[in-house]
Amino acid sequence: QSVAAAGGLATTCPYCGVGCGVRVDTRKLTVSGDVQHPANGGRLCVKGSALGETLGLDGRLLRPQRRVAESGPERWQALAWDDALSEIATRFARTIARHGPESVAFYVSGQLLTEDYYVANKLMKGYLGSANIDTNSRLCMSSAVAGHKRAFGEDLVPGCYEDFELADLVVLVGSNTAWCHPVLYQRIVAEKERRPELRVVVVDPRRTPTCDIADLHLPLAPGSDVPLFNGLLAWLATHGAADRDFIAAHTRDADAALAAAAETAGDLDALAVSCGLQRDRLETFFNLFAATDKVVTLFSQGVNQSGQGTDKVNAIINCHLYTGRIGKPGMGPFSMTGQPNAMGGREVGGLSNTLAAHLELGDPRQRALVQRFWNSPTVAETPGPKAVDLFEAVHDGRIKALWIMATNPVVSLPDADRVREALRRCDFVVVSDVVASTDTAQLAHLLLPALSWGEKDGTVTNSERVISRQRAFRAAPGEARPDWWALAEVGRRLGHEQAFDYAGPQQIFDEHARLSAFENGGERVFNLAGLAGMSDSEYDALAPIRWPVPAPGIGSERLFGDGRFPTEDGRAMFVPVTPVAPAHPLSEQFPFILNTGRIRDQWHTMTRTGVAPTLGAHLPEPYVDLHAADVLACGLREGGLARVTSRWGTLVARVRCSGEMRRGQVFVPIHWNDQFASDARVGALVNPVVDPVSGEPEFKHTPVRVDEF
Ligand code: SF4
Repeated sequence: QSVAAAGGLATTCPYCGVGCGVRVDTRKLTVSGDVQHPANGGRLCVKGSALGETLGLDGRLLRPQRRVAESGPERWQALAWDDALSEIATRFARTIARHGPESVAFYVSGQLLTEDYYVANKLMKGYLGSANIDTNSRLCMSSAVAGHKRAFGEDLVPGCYEDFELADLVVLVGSNTAWCHPVLYQRIVAEKERRPELRVVVVDPRRTPTCDIADLHLPLAPGSDVPLFNGLLAWLATHGAADRDFIAAHTRDADAALAAAAETAGDLDALAVSCGLQRDRLETFFNLFAATDKVVTLFSQGVNQSGQGTDKVNAIINCHLYTGRIGKPGMGPFSMTGQPNAMGGREVGGLSNTLAAHLELGDPRQRALVQRFWNSPTVAETPGPKAVDLFEAVHDGRIKALWIMATNPVVSLPDADRVREALRRCDFVVVSDVVASTDTAQLAHLLLPALSWGEKDGTVTNSERVISRQRAFRAAPGEARPDWWALAEVGRRLGHEQAFDYAGPQQIFDEHARLSAFENGGERVFNLAGLAGMSDSEYDALAPIRWPVPAPGIGSERLFGDGRFPTEDGRAMFVPVTPVAPAHPLSEQFPFILNTGRIRDQWHTMTRTGVAPTLGAHLPEPYVDLHAADVLACGLREGGLARVTSRWGTLVARVRCSGEMRRGQVFVPIHWNDQFASDARVGALVNPVVDPVSGEPEFKHTPVRVDEF
């Protein structure tokens, strides 16, 4: 952690959803925390501090390339941008002419800037005529999006980071905050040091480093979040914790949610058994929650990445609605997103079932509004496939031309060997990336060199709705270009010169801001009217601001403080939820539950953090973490190699006994891939089960076995 004085160029860290502001000394290429940024106030974690180590050009993709052979040194041939872009336009147009607009797709990323994301969505949904665009953010927070929409009517995070410092109880659910969102964790640590009476409860099957500050750790059985929060709701009802005035004035369907909760929660003894928890711990948690007004409940991938992720989100929100603890300082449910711009992607309709500016693809009036604003030939009417289904459509030949941007699905998606096979079968695969040799890039027909952090220019939005500028401070290397430019050039080559006539990211942001305000009489909360019409220099100088921004200089701290929600009748919805067992139960052949996640010092598939020596020192190789008794029972030894096998695939990793694991559960990090170690892609093992509402994959519950290698 470093706290630095202001100075140097202000930009934003490109890693996690905390979205810290950084200052770059552009001469020495060193990085420090931005004391003026609301997310971090000068703090940085080790990943942010090591950004300077990632700026080299080793392994960079520097010019467009076409694959001309299956292997060997002559495999790739450079080509001019003009030829590459014309080829993409021709191949996409020809595929659409022969097979219809559903035969082409984009797969994009929370690493894209909002401006890139906006142009990709506009091109696909408004001009190619399909909603076949999905994003790796589907893997990260789409359950939170779906849960927010069901409860609030719009995908909205009600609070801000300051609420963690104003709360008297912080509940961290399915989140190793200490490693995955370190600066937010540091803020909670600092507040707990200042005010020891602040209580912290961690709900996680693993005893992670986040538990170092926990007053109470609930190591619940994987998949038992719905019973836990249904049990809490029933407890709140019987222990006088309901905010009856708030429920009556501002919500709907509380009784239905309560009935479902009471039916499934059972008594405390039965609930403790079904959650795998000690009864007294459960009771302590429930009493603490019931008795504390200022409660913030953070939830992250442990909740979202589940076959029942959306229900889990709503089970948590139900408890906050029932107590009226939402939209007020120090209170509220809080979705922590994984990626730096997962929120920005949501704003521009990055998911295959949404439209730009928080508008709904399924609503004919809202589709018509977007079409009027874009003056586009069409707006896709049918939601496109969600990430896992999108690659399934590639596998079975329904999607024949695919453009992948800033992501590595051959490593990160579930059943990743099938994804690799899908790309092998696809007629035409374009990959835009900064790195030349990712597992996914190897399967491209055309490679396009993208700009990296420090070279690209635009905006991102973090988990607390703060829009920040990412600023360029280095010249584009080789022939690398912005993603928005490549997309716009293809749009222009398809005959839509005017719609994609952008001079730079400021123009794109302006269009995005104007769309958010277009025919918006206040029924949509997402509104950037106050950021529309900025000049180039105002955009350049834009200071971090939390949306909605209804007028210039007016940001918004919290939402729903007045008890009004953007639903038809202005009321929030309770959602009745009942537990659903994981799709694939354990068996004699596969007796362990595989849980996957991040480690402290790596990011995604290591294309950037993997080149920073400082970051490699923490946990230098892929590992499988087990309980010590399971290590013995499996005939393994700590430090030896193990093979982990599921119905879908296999990997080899070093055996680790961190002391975090319960018996019967194993943890493998998500980061390693064939660039850094062989047989180390955990995605190859993960079951391709998805949440039926959000389409988010189940990364936390795959049956596996572990053998000596
Ligand atoms: Fe970057 Fe996240 Fe670390 Fe902040 S907490 S410096 S955004 S990785």
